[in-house]
Amino acid sequence: MPESITKNLFKLSIKLPDLAIESLNAYLLTLNDKNILIDTGSPSYGSISLLVEELEDLGMKISDINEIIITHFHIDHIGLAYLLSKLAKVKIIIGNVEYNFIKRFKYRYEEMIKILKLNGASQQLLNIAFDFTSGFRANIYSRVGELNNVETVNDSQQLYNLKFLFTPGHTIGHICIYDEENKLLLSGDTLLADITPNVSLYEENSNPLNDYLKSLKRISKLEIKKSLPAHGRIIENTEERIRELIKHHEERLNEILEIMGNRELTAYEIATKIKWKLKYNGWDELDPSQKYLAMGETLAHLKYLEDIDAVRRRISDGVIKYVKQKENVKISL
Ligand SMILES: [Zn+2]
Repeated sequence: MPESITKNLFKLSIKLPDLAIESLNAYLLTLNDKNILIDTGSPSYGSISLLVEELEDLGMKISDINEIIITHFHIDHIGLAYLLSKLAKVKIIIGNVEYNFIKRFKYRYEEMIKILKLNGASQQLLNIAFDFTSGFRANIYSRVGELNNVETVNDSQQLYNLKFLFTPGHTIGHICIYDEENKLLLSGDTLLADITPNVSLYEENSNPLNDYLKSLKRISKLEIKKSLPAHGRIIENTEERIRELIKHHEERLNEILEIMGNRELTAYEIATKIKWKLKYNGWDELDPSQKYLAMGETLAHLKYLEDIDAVRRRISDGVIKYVKQKENVKISL
């Protein structure tokens, strides 16, 4: 059953049967002359049937949707965009940075394999990288990149009563959508209430954790009554949640420094030693996709530590090993 947020904004619960995260909050904005869906669900029967049912409860059908705004390229958000655009001639709206990333996505597999190998990843991780960066998923992304009814938006651009705010970190071009009049933030996966959004290194010359922390600071300057995330509960106290998320990353950075001690370790070795917030008794118990995300997180944190000169890398036998720059460094964000 859709949940009414304002008189013209509804939260739709869309099942994600094929993904660990299980459910997406899509949002439907009904304007006088058009209906806008924000995020879509995965390319699955579960998602499309729930979308149809949720719309039906509002007296609407798929063909009543005129535009889709995509917060970021991940499969649970963009997954049905291509199909809906073909079925109902829906216009797709996406941030220009994210759009350019989709356009060059076909090179991502090779880059990820290079990064993973350099960082000592196991063969199992190299295998799972294919699922995330190539094959079925990459095909879905590329198809959206080939549509001719895509409109890209720039940072701070205003459309209707919405302002697009680029909040990179979870992905390179993630956007949040701010409804200034109602003081609501559609936060995508940048702010989540129940879990900490994944922040992974996606390209060698990037610092996604730094981007993410800057994005959180940017959001904290807005007046927000409620944040409406793409998964889980609505965030009633955005400021508090932002503080918790910053604290989480501060703790993780210090945990990594502690794990390193005065040893030289690869990012993979560090990833296996971090206490991930998951129910498990050891690295081997994690499923391959959890390990892949954990490795990405570890790399993002190491990149951050490297850029503030807390650690440095040394290449030996074609593998990067990290070592602390000095003893007793404590990171405070
Ligand atoms: Zn998501």
